[in-house]
Amino acid sequence: MGSLGFYFLLLIAIFAGWLMGRFAYPRKRAIDKDSGDLFEDYFVGLNYLLNDEPDEAIDTFIDALEINSETIETHLALGALLRRRGKVDQAIKVHQALLARPGLEQDFSEATRLQLALDHISAGLLDRAEHLLNEILGEASNSKWEALHHLVTIYQTEKEWEKAIGSASQLLENSAFKKDFELRAATAHYCCELAELLLDQNQDGKAKVQLKRAFSFDRDNARASFLLARIEQRRGNFKAAIKQLQRIYSSSPDFVGQLLGPLSECYEQMGMMCDFEELLRSMLSEGSNVNVVLALFDLINKDAGNEAAMGFLNGALAESPSLEGLQKLLGLQVSAADDDLEKSLTSVQKLIDRMLYKNFEYQCNHCGYESRNHYWMCPSCKKWDKIKATINDVAAS
Ligand SMILES: [Zn+2]
Repeated sequence: MGSLGFYFLLLIAIFAGWLMGRFAYPRKRAIDKDSGDLFEDYFVGLNYLLNDEPDEAIDTFIDALEINSETIETHLALGALLRRRGKVDQAIKVHQALLARPGLEQDFSEATRLQLALDHISAGLLDRAEHLLNEILGEASNSKWEALHHLVTIYQTEKEWEKAIGSASQLLENSAFKKDFELRAATAHYCCELAELLLDQNQDGKAKVQLKRAFSFDRDNARASFLLARIEQRRGNFKAAIKQLQRIYSSSPDFVGQLLGPLSECYEQMGMMCDFEELLRSMLSEGSNVNVVLALFDLINKDAGNEAAMGFLNGALAESPSLEGLQKLLGLQVSAADDDLEKSLTSVQKLIDRMLYKNFEYQCNHCGYESRNHYWMCPSCKKWDKIKATINDVAAS
């Protein structure tokens, strides 16, 4: 809907609100504004709207509308509109004026405080928003669930992980939200955040407890498996670490680029690089991935020398071409080339480097944010698990 259409609907809503307020309470007429003034305000507001000055129009309508139970919803809609237009101070004033009204019904009081909390969130006054939302929770009201959702967002922003887990757990107890996968995944990440803090303090045992808690919210949480693998690896439990890393690969194969490093370290520590090669070959048979190709290339190069590695890479590139693979191949040929050929090969290498640099390795599949690093939470849209590898998967390009 265009903004003009939206304001037109708003106008109708306001006028309807005014009419209802006017005729539903005829006995209060004596203390209301004079009806001539109201019509005048209404047409002044209309004039602002027609002149494309919606902010002035909203101010005029707010002044014109008497607050009573028939017009409260219109006031709430206007307050929310002001907030969305970035006029948070005015939105706060509208909502505070509603709250100051004596004898405001419980439902409207909650709805208004909820809106006021959203104003405070928009203004960055998270402490005040938190206070209002907790007040609503204390009243065991209908708005409880919405208040809990906003509290989770506030605690996430403030990195108050334990409180975020507490509010999210309360929501998940409600059968309506029990299967909210995004909420479950986010809560698992809050546990992982706590686990990472504990790992930094070398408290592996306590970190493991948090990871177990993470799996209770989302049993396929890749981050929890990565952290668990890290703990097992540094304790020398390489088999257990490999098990966790393979678990990630089976549930989220797009993490393969991040898995191969720790996998190779674990197999190397156990002196079982042949098993690693076997694993890489089985991964390759399931679908070509440039990371797997490059890891296999390095292994073959080390064990069987340049020629065997080049043969393998030529075959892999013919099947699914990739700039990264081509770069490796050129690197081998540069070292074997004479001076002139070396010069031209080096310039081709530089060109490929530039092309590779242009490609972002990760992208958020929710908002499109691009990055060279992987983040569990998208820095732009704040959603969890939406950042995915983009150029690793040769088959997809
Ligand atoms: Zn995003």
